[in-house]
Amino acid sequence: MQPILASAGRHGLRCSNWSQIAQVSRLQPSRTSKSLAGKHAPKQTILSRRHLLPFRRAQASSTSKSWVRQISTKPLPSRGPVSRFLYRTAAWTGIFVAISGGLVAAFFAYDATTYSGTDGDLTCTISEAALFPRRGGPKNLPIAEILVDDEESQEMESQKYKPKLVILGTGWGSVAMMKELNPLDYHVTVVSPENYFLFTPMLPSATVGTLEFRSLVEPIRRIVSRLKGHFLKAEAVDVEFSEKLVEVAAVNAKGEKENFYLPYDKLIISVGATTNTHGVKGLENCNWLKTIEDARLIKRKVLNNFEMACLPTTSDEERKRLLSFVVSGGGPTGVEFAAELYDMLNEDLLQSFPKILRNEVSVHVIQSRSHILNTYDEALSVYAEKRFEHDNVDVLTNARVQEVRPDKIIFSQKDGDGKVTRKELPMGFCLWSTGVAQTAFCKTLADKLGDAQTNKHALETDTHLRLVGAPLGDVYAIGDCSTVQNNIADNLVTFLRGMAWERGKDPKDLRITFTEWRNIAGKVKKRFPQAGNHLRRLDKLFESYDKDKNGTLDFSELHELVLQIDSKLTSLPATAQRANQQGGYLGKKFNRIAQAVPGFKANEVDYGDLDDAVYKAFEYHHLGSLAYVGNAAIFDINGLNFSGGLMAVYLWRSIYFAQSVSFRTRVLLAMDWSKRAIFGRGKPSAFLQKVLSNVNFHRFDGLLDSEQLFASEIDRWSTQPRS
Ligand code: FAD
Ligand code: MG
Repeated sequence: MQPILASAGRHGLRCSNWSQIAQVSRLQPSRTSKSLAGKHAPKQTILSRRHLLPFRRAQASSTSKSWVRQISTKPLPSRGPVSRFLYRTAAWTGIFVAISGGLVAAFFAYDATTYSGTDGDLTCTISEAALFPRRGGPKNLPIAEILVDDEESQEMESQKYKPKLVILGTGWGSVAMMKELNPLDYHVTVVSPENYFLFTPMLPSATVGTLEFRSLVEPIRRIVSRLKGHFLKAEAVDVEFSEKLVEVAAVNAKGEKENFYLPYDKLIISVGATTNTHGVKGLENCNWLKTIEDARLIKRKVLNNFEMACLPTTSDEERKRLLSFVVSGGGPTGVEFAAELYDMLNEDLLQSFPKILRNEVSVHVIQSRSHILNTYDEALSVYAEKRFEHDNVDVLTNARVQEVRPDKIIFSQKDGDGKVTRKELPMGFCLWSTGVAQTAFCKTLADKLGDAQTNKHALETDTHLRLVGAPLGDVYAIGDCSTVQNNIADNLVTFLRGMAWERGKDPKDLRITFTEWRNIAGKVKKRFPQAGNHLRRLDKLFESYDKDKNGTLDFSELHELVLQIDSKLTSLPATAQRANQQGGYLGKKFNRIAQAVPGFKANEVDYGDLDDAVYKAFEYHHLGSLAYVGNAAIFDINGLNFSGGLMAVYLWRSIYFAQSVSFRTRVLLAMDWSKRAIFGRGKPSAFLQKVLSNVNFHRFDGLLDSEQLFASEIDRWSTQPRS
């Protein structure tokens, strides 16, 4: 090594030239100072720290060597490249071990804080009324006026006498409302037979193992605990509107059903809908896809069919039947399920099962209309059909199922000439997914409210989402179980009649000027926001309906105009998007009501229609529709339509990822998608199989019925809330 002519003083190092500085700077500063600051060192240019600064910066950003040197206090051994390499490797390994060790220790430290014993004070007060509820109501049932956890903390107690808000259901509508509500404004009680929220848009992915069931559900008690509310795992069976009591049925400790009443000041019905049977025979031979349990049964049945198809005792014909998968219904749920099923069969199962099965698997979609996804833009439906054709998914359009037998499905199909032919399709599995119908509970309520409820498919509400026929402002219905009335014409006729009588005229003789028409249209828009789009060009409408061109609209002209608008308004779709918007709307409105009521009461103001006084009517904003069609996705976003392969799939996933209900489910979703990429749905990818060929893979084997464990896990959540 070249002698280094440098010494270190209080102000820095002394070097004779820049190449020496370069060498000095490679050495560790403290060592350099000690070894080179001898008294014989020639006095050369004094380099202050300022002079060395650019050099040090360059040094800091240079190679990894300098990093190691900065940490180690020893000079690099000068024995050659191999020993240097070994020395550096050892240093990096040391750093890695230290950091990983630190992280593991930090994790254990955190983990230790998450275990809590039961040392705390467990004493709590429970009122006698909670343990021995009084009986009453039309059926003389126990009335749950006070709940067992009503007095367990000061916060809970402070809510005891707040207005009682009872929410039925734990689906999209209810959860959106709970997320919006301010805590401590109401005494909230949620009633549902399911103690979790299910993220339905991703449910088809869970039937084939792309996603785990637990990634799609959120324990409802976690959501309710933010509101310091209560949850009862039970089912609403009836409502006594005049006494403000919901009749609830719960399974007691003896396994028997027991009914009781739950009092309410405000009741939210968001119980969803059931699958529409269309009166078809033999649906007990089909699977449904509505709940997590349905998804579990589907997964098991598909795998069972594959296992049976492999048995030596299974005939050729029987094997084909077992591997014939039929989806009845070409809407988004049916199409997404068919796509996921095809992906699983193609990407995963066929790799694990004998090759002979590959040619015998078939997937069929039976659709009553001329296209699948018929509520989407036609170009997108056609794209989905082409995608299915490419993947050999058989799409049978203009076909109606007549009967489902255990081994075959019988349907009629119309050809291009309108000729209807009866056909049969052997099948080993059939998913029934053909729209929604009213639940038994909603039918009971509709019957009870008589003429006020005329819709056969859903509970009718006004535009403030109040159940029509129930006392004003007591009961609301949202989501799939409800429909918003678009009866502008009826409302307008009543309004015009009132206006005519006020002017002392017969309604038939009423004449409306353009200014009056503008005012009326403003009122219609406020009350029926959905009509806003059709009331943009008021002048044009006025002109075209003023048939006699006298500059006024008479009663019949105006009536015809609004009937025309009525007919253009379609009923809202039965989607999570709508339920979510309605729940959010009610949450915001209830916050306003909670703020406004004390003021109204203090000033002794009779607020009349409180909802109308504090908040606008509900307006649905369609944000678009998306669907997964097998390694491709389609988007129909308010006229902007696009479809595509994997990039579209990533966008589709991102949208649902963002909408997922909690941080926990987002983390789980990300892990599931990564797991699918690495290990496949049931087992590792071919590449990883090679790499990890010595590892025992039975743990990754999603082809086992391991999800059985999950069912009991969901039940456990109801007893183990964690805020
Ligand atoms: P739900 O979410 O169905 O919740 C109803 C709740 O009420 C449940 O918790 C139920 O247990 C409870 N309940 C039932 N009866 C009673 C009773 N008597 N008493 C008390 N509680 C009761 N929509 C989209 O917008 N995009 C999609 O991609 C999409 N994909 C879907 C995929 C599948 C497989 C399915 C099944 C649906 C899909 N939907 C989608 C539709 C969407 O899930 C529904 O529109 C939405 O769930 C409706 O919300 P809801 O609150 O009205 O009812
Ligand atoms: Mg006229």
